[in-house]
Amino acid sequence: MTRTEQGRGAVIVTGASRGIGAAIAQKLADDGYGVVVNYAADAAGAESVVSTIREHGGRAVAVRADVAAPDDVANLFERARQEMGPLTALINNAGIVGEQARIDEQDADELTRLMRINVVGPMVCARHAVQAMSTAHGGTGGSIVNIASVAARAIPGVTGFVPYEATKGAVVTFSRGLSNEVAPEGIRVNSVSPGVIDTEMAAKTAGARQAAASSPLGRAGRPDEIANTVAWLVSPAASYVTGTDVTVSGGM
Ligand code: NAP
Repeated sequence: MTRTEQGRGAVIVTGASRGIGAAIAQKLADDGYGVVVNYAADAAGAESVVSTIREHGGRAVAVRADVAAPDDVANLFERARQEMGPLTALINNAGIVGEQARIDEQDADELTRLMRINVVGPMVCARHAVQAMSTAHGGTGGSIVNIASVAARAIPGVTGFVPYEATKGAVVTFSRGLSNEVAPEGIRVNSVSPGVIDTEMAAKTAGARQAAASSPLGRAGRPDEIANTVAWLVSPAASYVTGTDVTVSGGM
């Protein structure tokens, strides 16, 4: 039997058209999951991730959905069910940094957009994942991993990102709280807090490179270093791990 035929169920990775999400999608496909590569705008990037996965013998499909749009999210989960079968895991990775400015200079509409993409979106996705995976809803259990950030700790000296930091704090708290609620229904929920990871987002973020250079390991992390941690968290090797936040930051 081939790896594809064995399968480990379906996994949705939000924001997987590049960066950390693309690396997570590739790693989970290598591990035998059928992967839904979600994106909002970058169709070419998502199709490229799918092509690479298929070239390596994996199963993947690209599905457009803005995680901030509830109807898009409902369609994402329905397409995942149709194309990949029963859901095993959700990786809430899609996120934006928002405007880099002090709070007294922030635009209220942009703040709302930031909250909808980074906080409400993962919650709506989790809602669908619980409906699909919970034994209380006839499912067989599964795993949710939410991508937070060391920014949740609001590190002194880093300025202009307070709203982003607050969204990631919300992600950590949401993960911990949800893990309590759904543990008896066979679902483990954890978050991963990356430090500075070498992606488009980090390249566009003022001060990120300097912060990485002054971290104990003295460099930015690679997307695959986050993907390896996520793959472990969703795997049976992490069967006793729930309600925790795993920091992957080079010591930052
Ligand atoms: P990135 O390179 O900017 O990629 C972001 C991904 O999210 C893209 O695939 C983008 O796709 C997608 N996306 C953005 N808005 C979306 C929406 N509304 N709906 C669906 N998808 C959406 O970012 P990254 O560095 O890989 O970051 C991934 C996650 O890690 C984020 O949650 C980020 O906060 C977190 N993180 C990153 C770092 C870092 O240093 N890079 C550190 C800590 C935490 P489209 O272009 O198609 O919209």
